Amino acid sequence: MSGIRSKDTKPELVVRRGLHALGYRYRLHVKDLPGKPDIVLPRRRAAIFVHGCFWHGHNCHLFKWPKTRTDFWRQKIKTNRKNDERAIRALQEQAWRVLIVWECSLKGRTRHSSEKTISLISDWLRSDQGKDEIRGRD
Ligand SMILES: [Zn+2]
Repeated sequence: MSGIRSKDTKPELVVRRGLHALGYRYRLHVKDLPGKPDIVLPRRRAAIFVHGCFWHGHNCHLFKWPKTRTDFWRQKIKTNRKNDERAIRALQEQAWRVLIVWECSLKGRTRHSSEKTISLISDWLRSDQGKDEIRGRD
């Protein structure tokens, strides 16, 4: 669950490949935008974050508080969540649409098929909808 933090996580690759196959073109890890969104589609004014449920403290079955170094992890995850909120707000203030794709939509027992998750993302991209999230099944 904790594992090594990596820039190109597997769920992110699944999303990138899926969108690419549907003809979407995007920029990756855009440093000059708040929170450095993982996938950015400038023409659709869309910024996508693929969030690891552990690192971002998601309320789902992939997240459990570690039993050691409890204070460290509480602080770490609290900070991550605060940074996420701040980045989302800043993006919205710049009129970006923001989509959070949670790891649990692509991994673990609540996952959708990757086709399903990609099609949910594609529906959102084609809509005018503002901030939204895609998570695993309940
Ligand atoms: Zn999750």
